[in-house]
Amino acid sequence: MRTGRKKKKPKVIGLPDFWDVLSCHETKLLALDYDGTLAPFCVQRMQAYPYPGVPRILESISRRRDTVLAIVSGRPLAEVLILAGSFDGIVIGSHGMEKRLSSGDIVVKAADQEQRQGLCCAQSIAEEIGLGDRIELKPASVALHTRGLDPEEASRLEDRAARVWRAISDGHGLEVRRFNGGVEVRATGWNKGDALEELRRGMPVGSACVYIGDDDTDEDAFLKIRRRGYGIRVGDADRPTAARGFLPGIPAVREFLEAWADLAVPAREESVSWIRDG
Ligand SMILES: [Mg+2]
Repeated sequence: MRTGRKKKKPKVIGLPDFWDVLSCHETKLLALDYDGTLAPFCVQRMQAYPYPGVPRILESISRRRDTVLAIVSGRPLAEVLILAGSFDGIVIGSHGMEKRLSSGDIVVKAADQEQRQGLCCAQSIAEEIGLGDRIELKPASVALHTRGLDPEEASRLEDRAARVWRAISDGHGLEVRRFNGGVEVRATGWNKGDALEELRRGMPVGSACVYIGDDDTDEDAFLKIRRRGYGIRVGDADRPTAARGFLPGIPAVREFLEAWADLAVPAREESVSWIRDG
């Protein structure tokens, strides 16, 4: 996005030199969580559209020849593709189990038989204890959604689901993880950190790697790039996290993305076609 007027770059809390350091990298990977990072939370999950202006800015960044842009979400891929609409870059869903490549091809990693049996069992248990109407069955997980409930009731239901799911998770290669707005039991062996690392390994040596997310499931990604890149958590700066920087909320993420879109493009001719996203 070129406005012709040089705007002051937004502060990344905890990373005072962020923009100066970033500008030294000729190639960059920018990976973004979806809910709570690009889109405000919504009780009706399929109404959680991107924050105003964000799709236009993402389009602008995706046209930059120095940046590979990806959305990395815990949602099923199909949901992100609907909600993110016009975004035609890399989209990773189900914590890395599904991926829409920059070529448009879709790659799915299947949970193994033992994990699938465990997820069926987790779904049945949740229905038996009366949580069925809040359950979502995803390709490699079962989620209990509590957004919109009274916080005490939400906490009670999440604790209950977590307790019964933990009882079956170890024996089936599953793990129980909280997320903002619920709890889920999911296949182990692949997470947002692994998905990010796969993208990072497809970049040229010396590329900057930046990941922005708001939730506990994003901690896997922050941890993975702690020494190799820049994890930025959306929310309060006093929360325990492996991220090195903070942005206070989604409006600040939008400002950050605007500043990225306005970065001077490195003089050296580069192309994003080198990414090995298969
Ligand atoms: Mg999120």
